[in-house]
Amino acid sequence: MGIDREGDKTRSSMRLVNRNDQMTGEFNDPTAEVPPDLFEQDRLWMRQALRLAEQAAAVGEVPVGAVLVRDGEVIGSGFNRPIGNCDPTAHAEILALRQAAEHVGNYRIIDSTLYVTLEPCPMCAGAMVHARVGRVVFGASDPRAGAAGTVFNLLQSESLNHRAAVTGGVLDDACGQLLRDFFRSRREAIKNAPVDPTDEANGPAVQ
Ligand code: ZN
Repeated sequence: MGIDREGDKTRSSMRLVNRNDQMTGEFNDPTAEVPPDLFEQDRLWMRQALRLAEQAAAVGEVPVGAVLVRDGEVIGSGFNRPIGNCDPTAHAEILALRQAAEHVGNYRIIDSTLYVTLEPCPMCAGAMVHARVGRVVFGASDPRAGAAGTVFNLLQSESLNHRAAVTGGVLDDACGQLLRDFFRSRREAIKNAPVDPTDEANGPAVQ
């Protein structure tokens, strides 16, 4: 997972449609601005997701954080930890969905909004469709694997039986910077790592 994007703004193109009209009718107009009070709420929850992403970075995981909110309450949260958990599915969003489903006692988590610092991958977007998440708000776009409109649009596919409202670009500078800083420091750590000349398996210190 990587983030290449350097500061380009995609907010307006990411104002997408909730065709099911499940939560907020205003999202049926893809050009509609998010109302100011909702915009402020989005930033508030995204800051919580950012704090979780920082926790991921602190333990050497790609810094992505997620919170799932319903009725103004966090019902699930998580940060990326596939390495620590030895689990390829342990993305921030999956962990938040699992926690929320346990909390509410239902695998469907309707009327909820998922905030995540990086655009969801196909696996996580698929899980959100299964969980019937009503709205998804993300920070930075993922030009390599984003499944909320950048590479795929699984959250609004006509072929699936659920569609979510999507808003992108919320605190995207801070979300993207965290990722860029993480990958930069990891590259530097690899570059500066001592190489054991007796270890023939040691190839070039790059990935
Ligand atoms: Zn994912």
